Amino acid sequence: MNTPIGLAVLPWGATEAHNLHLPYSTDIIETERIASEAAGKAWKKGAKIIVLPAVPFGVNTGQLDIRGTVNLNPTTQYAILKDIVDDLNRQAINKLLILNGHGGNDFKQMIRELGAIYPGMFICTCNWYQSVENSEFFEKDGGHADEMETSLMQYLAPDLVLPLGQAGKGSAKKFRIKALNEKWAWTERKWLQVTKDTGIGDPTAATPEKGEKYFNAVVEKVSQLLIDLSNADINDLYE
Ligand SMILES: [Zn+2]
Repeated sequence: MNTPIGLAVLPWGATEAHNLHLPYSTDIIETERIASEAAGKAWKKGAKIIVLPAVPFGVNTGQLDIRGTVNLNPTTQYAILKDIVDDLNRQAINKLLILNGHGGNDFKQMIRELGAIYPGMFICTCNWYQSVENSEFFEKDGGHADEMETSLMQYLAPDLVLPLGQAGKGSAKKFRIKALNEKWAWTERKWLQVTKDTGIGDPTAATPEKGEKYFNAVVEKVSQLLIDLSNADINDLYE
């Protein structure tokens, strides 16, 4: 209980439909496993890290009409995050990484606001799915219940993945407005108008072997981040 703690990691997922073959808990399982594995590796190298339980609900305002999907509004997320930061701050655990596993979650503005309220806290966020170049591991891109997520879940939780023959195609419509497809303009996608089976990305080339390779690569990258954050002096971050 009295071991000094250099960093707290908060995995944050979502509960949402993932095509027809992956569980609703996909983002939670992936993010929790990456957090615990990466923290374990970092711990062995001397970093004192705690991994908090994953927050199981994310922002799913574009999927409110999909049965079983649970939305947490950004303002609710902020209230939860603020309570967690308040506790850590009181307990002198002054570094926090939010490890995010869901595209609808965005903690940047919350971190700005909380940083102003808790100047003694260093808060950072990272999307693990952007930590390595996914095209080096997978043939087809997508973003949701795609080849990457399917491979990862085939490796991490095979009992929870249905055979690929039962998966939908994961084909998705594009915007009619060019700038939105180029991604320099942004709006939320109404999920059921974009995809029939809730998947975005063809999962058919997925294998557990690809998932294992990808998992190990992501864990390696995240683990190094945890070590760097744990060792960092928050009053001397720049060079
Ligand atoms: Zn997902």
